[in-house]
Amino acid sequence: MENYDRLEELVAAIYSMPRSPTAEDFATMLGFVEPTESTRLFANLDEVSKLLAVCHLLRRLRMMLSERDQDIIYNKLAASHLPALVNNFLDAPLPPTTIYPDESKRSEFRLNNVYLEILGTISHTPYLSKFLRSHKAAAEGGKRLLKTIAERVVELAPSWDKKMLNPPLDREPGYYESAAGTAIQMISTLSAAFVKESVDSPILIAQETKQALIVWLRKWERRHASEFLGRVSERTRSQLERRDRLMQDANRIRRMLKNWDRCGYIGCNKDSDLKACARCHTVRYCCPEHQRAHWNDRDNPHKKFCFQADY
Ligand SMILES: [Zn+2]
Ligand SMILES: [Zn+2]
Repeated sequence: MENYDRLEELVAAIYSMPRSPTAEDFATMLGFVEPTESTRLFANLDEVSKLLAVCHLLRRLRMMLSERDQDIIYNKLAASHLPALVNNFLDAPLPPTTIYPDESKRSEFRLNNVYLEILGTISHTPYLSKFLRSHKAAAEGGKRLLKTIAERVVELAPSWDKKMLNPPLDREPGYYESAAGTAIQMISTLSAAFVKESVDSPILIAQETKQALIVWLRKWERRHASEFLGRVSERTRSQLERRDRLMQDANRIRRMLKNWDRCGYIGCNKDSDLKACARCHTVRYCCPEHQRAHWNDRDNPHKKFCFQADY
């Protein structure tokens, strides 16, 4: 009961904040930074409350800020916290039994947790590809991420599939479809990012897991054809089966994610002799003039998206 009161207070606070949400608010909720005077209410949350609070804060963010300004926050979060997000996802702390006595519900947090929610939200930023291609110790978790998500989908799929067919009363409609869709979309993004890895690379999903996953994807793409889960299942299955057309698509996505193969200045298509931005290493330019122009660009000034990262 005490926990419920605290959650209500927290959600009310998120919607009545006089300012727009910041990257620090998210980092405090996630437990990655110490709270300040104005973020104290967001600190020390259990895993259930974290997921709920972050979803409300994301909703509030979308209400208050333009897409570009939201994107600045996503880039900043990614630059500062990708290693912690990934490591927390891999460790997947479960909610306390005092709040969630049901073991099968607790185990859902191995996949449907706040870390994957944020990873999905920031997966379009160039920091994700920087993180994934990094060889620094801070980025080690990135090498296990794709496999782990796939293994957990396969592990939870039998129970989630049953709950899609017979939705439990204490979950909102579409809860398991949405949770599975988020995880599968991340598998798609990561498979695209790793498209150049050799087939037997240890970063990729093991053969046995892949076959088991494809069975579920096939089932969901048929049954949920007109929904998000169906579309993302179909796309991901085609990627995993390495279909040619989708492979080209994946290559294109990978290049876009990488922000790397062409000069970062909008409209310049030079793709040779590029030099990386020394601070963020997420973008490259053909000449100092284009770097300067992009830094102060009217629509997407790089100075707002450029952060140092320790990976
Ligand atoms: Zn250029
Ligand atoms: Zn930069």
